[in-house]
Amino acid sequence: MVYTSLKSPENQDYAYSLNVAHLYGNLLNTYGDNGNILMMKYVGEKLSAQMTFDIVSIEDPFDEHHYDLIFFGGGQDYEQSIVAKDLPNKKENLARFIENEGVGLAICGGFQLLGQYYIQADGQKINGIGVMGHYTLNQDNNRYIGDIKIYNEEFKETYYGFENHQGRTFLSEDEKPLGKVIYGNGNNKEDGTEGLHYKNIFGSYFHGPLLSRNANLAYRLVSTALKNKYGQDIQLPDYQDILNKEVAEEYDDIKSKAEFK
Ligand code: GLN
Repeated sequence: MVYTSLKSPENQDYAYSLNVAHLYGNLLNTYGDNGNILMMKYVGEKLSAQMTFDIVSIEDPFDEHHYDLIFFGGGQDYEQSIVAKDLPNKKENLARFIENEGVGLAICGGFQLLGQYYIQADGQKINGIGVMGHYTLNQDNNRYIGDIKIYNEEFKETYYGFENHQGRTFLSEDEKPLGKVIYGNGNNKEDGTEGLHYKNIFGSYFHGPLLSRNANLAYRLVSTALKNKYGQDIQLPDYQDILNKEVAEEYDDIKSKAEFK
């Protein structure tokens, strides 16, 4: 059953609206992944968009024409194996969404399941959606856990996060990483890549959640979804105006109060 889990207040004037599918949100939501949803809502409302989040889970149809953004969280191997059984039902619609420049974010387990396959810690192989080329191997008695920092050369942006995964992911040739590892393990500890960027889909191993620590990426996702829906020419406040400035002012305020004490 598709159900709305979060919605912007009704009694306000919005210039836009965005519908977000929270894929398997009742199964895959470890380590505060749901905070990404709250951050999308926050940024969307700052850009005058009424945000609606639906949980689209087992046996629910995914309507690629209705949704403007998808979010796919992470999870334990057990939950991932349940989700993997349902993925073939949504494969074609999700593939169309992705190939038609739909915007999305997938964290850890969700990132793994967008790809070809994932080998669980116990060695069992589960199939992903297979829309993208990456695949994920396992490792013996080890997990990659800890703080991580990466740099995206195309956007000239730095992202900070916390990773906790056993899977070792390898990207295909048509996929770019979300960033190059500055410190931490990243996708596989071998090739210096972290996460995924394919068309308008982003994947990452960052929990924590990723978007509240990296508001620049949250802005990129929401503003791209708005431009896809309403036209590339719409005038949106830029990132500095809605996020950096406020944070800086809040910080100055805290600092000035602290100095009085
Ligand atoms: N179960 C997967 C792994 O260990 C994904 C973990 C996660 O989503 N945090 O690699």
